[in-house]
Amino acid sequence: KQDFLRVEDLKVHFRLNRRLFAEQRLVHAVDGVSFSIRRGTTFGLVGESGSGKSTTAFAIMRLVKLTGGRIDLDGIDLGGLEGKALREMRRRFQIIFQDPYSSLNPRMRAGAIVREPMDLMAIGNPEERDGKVAEIFRRVGLRPEQQALFPHQFSGGQRQRIGVARALSTEPDLIVCDEPVSALDVAIQAQILNLLRNLQRELGLTYLFISHDLGVVQYVCDEVAVMYLGRIVEQGDRISLFGKPLHPYTWALLSAVPSTDPALHSKGRRIRLVGDPPSPIDPPAGCRFVARCPFAVERCHAESPRLRTIHPGHSVACHLVDDDGNAPHHRLD
Ligand code: SF4
Ligand code: MG
Repeated sequence: KQDFLRVEDLKVHFRLNRRLFAEQRLVHAVDGVSFSIRRGTTFGLVGESGSGKSTTAFAIMRLVKLTGGRIDLDGIDLGGLEGKALREMRRRFQIIFQDPYSSLNPRMRAGAIVREPMDLMAIGNPEERDGKVAEIFRRVGLRPEQQALFPHQFSGGQRQRIGVARALSTEPDLIVCDEPVSALDVAIQAQILNLLRNLQRELGLTYLFISHDLGVVQYVCDEVAVMYLGRIVEQGDRISLFGKPLHPYTWALLSAVPSTDPALHSKGRRIRLVGDPPSPIDPPAGCRFVARCPFAVERCHAESPRLRTIHPGHSVACHLVDDDGNAPHHRLD
């Protein structure tokens, strides 16, 4: 399958101008990120809060300004689009938010919520929009009569179905799923994830799936990138990345997932992550994980590791992973 979305050396830096600081500080929210997503697949961006995963998604949706880099969607340079061309393009990507309780307007009926993006973008005539809304309600497992209800009259899972329906209304190709099940009960999570997978198959959708939960990512993603402080530290297809995680940070994240296959842990002891991630304001000069990495050596403080390919489709940024794919945590036992 061809690359549908291609992100090259993406940078998003913010200036912080608070009185708190004597001088201006630069936040390196996203700091040189590259990846591509094949059409009809799901690409996972994983990391703790502050890793830059949401900012990466917002940059792709042109909701924040790029400091540098390039984003191509289906061969079109998104950064170069303005005015009408940008509005036309916006139809093609939508977002599903984390919290179905706060992201839906409580004073709007469900039907109007789903219809709104079509109204804003003047898609079709009013009767066509009515028909489309009813069709989307069925598609996401809601009854068309439920259009008349307000968000508080639905359960959490049903509310997220409304969020999904709203995202589908403009017939997008790319949907950013920003922690779409994190606010839901575990029992409901699987229903929404299965809905997303079925919709992908039926409609040929491409997903950029943002999550801190590796269990969820392992369930839905074809390809995964792990982010830390604005950079990708490991990237691979699902089988390689979960089968043989190479970066100590990925290993630490996996160690924290109780449901992960116990065989994964047989090759090494768990790494417990201590402390919060350091701030993306003035990040450390060497490896950004250095302050929390149990394997750090002198070189890690001085030199920033490059993302390099170890096996086809699997890359890592760590000085201590050798070219045969031996990682420091593999030697723990
Ligand atoms: Fe740890 Fe050094 Fe590898 Fe960074 S480069 S993850 S500090 S071993
Ligand atoms: Mg976020």
